Amino acid sequence: MRFHSERRIVLSNMQNDTTGLAIEVREFYKDYGQTVAADGISFSVPRGTIATLVGPNGAGKTTTIRTLCGILRPTSGQLSVAGFDVQTQALLVKQRIAYVPDDPPLFETLTVWEHLQFVASAYNVSDWQTKSEQLLDSLRLETKRSALASELSRGMRQKIAIACAYLHDPEVLFLDEPLTGLDPAAIRMLKKTMVQRASTGATVLVSSHLLALVEDICSHLIVLRKGKCLFSGSLQAAHESLGHTGSLEEVFFSLTGDEE
Ligand code: ATP
Repeated sequence: MRFHSERRIVLSNMQNDTTGLAIEVREFYKDYGQTVAADGISFSVPRGTIATLVGPNGAGKTTTIRTLCGILRPTSGQLSVAGFDVQTQALLVKQRIAYVPDDPPLFETLTVWEHLQFVASAYNVSDWQTKSEQLLDSLRLETKRSALASELSRGMRQKIAIACAYLHDPEVLFLDEPLTGLDPAAIRMLKKTMVQRASTGATVLVSSHLLALVEDICSHLIVLRKGKCLFSGSLQAAHESLGHTGSLEEVFFSLTGDEE
């Protein structure tokens, strides 16, 4: 795939970015009635990095991602993406991001190609056919371009959501458990493209329980547990604060104390 045009688009979108931070979360609280899902979470992610968001089940990862994407409203707190406030400048945020949920809702009666056409028209992507061909090729979905979403396997549905997310060259990519359901070749491709996109200035926030699979691509780490942020910073800072250079899994257990 070629990334020269992506670089130009990503850089042109950064006029509002004066902090060097792609994501800023300050004192974020979110409750669902009785359940407190986010209990004063604060963290930031520098532009052009891949940050992994980890935590035990129910830690608040999906709630945080969905609030950053403007799908959920925070109970309180300040959240900004690409330099724009997610509540008061929601449209400006949505124009610059892509979100792939863990179980992507597709349009069951649209074909694979029609999904890409739809996204291209929503985001006004001019060279969408060429880019779509490249994406389908790299995701090994060429033979499924005329298949309806309802005819796809779980992994294929995930791939379509990823292709749609990549098509408009988002400035910030939110991927919620993107590796689950993908075959080894697709996992390798997705990781490679995340690194390529970050190298062009895009930012990736990826949540995953598959620590060993994201370890080699992420430079930043955010650890949540029971709605609180236990750590946010570079992986190197995590190692320094813990006094060891163990694997991401070891860092995770040291921070959450959840091994038992
Ligand atoms: P997992 O790793 O299991 O996907 P998570 O870290 O993504 O978990 P969230 O999905 O954000 O966690 O959930 C955080 C808390 O909020 C949990 O206690 C969950 O039960 C609760 N919660 C999430 N969505 C809702 C909802 N729509 N209504 C009520 N409670 C919710």
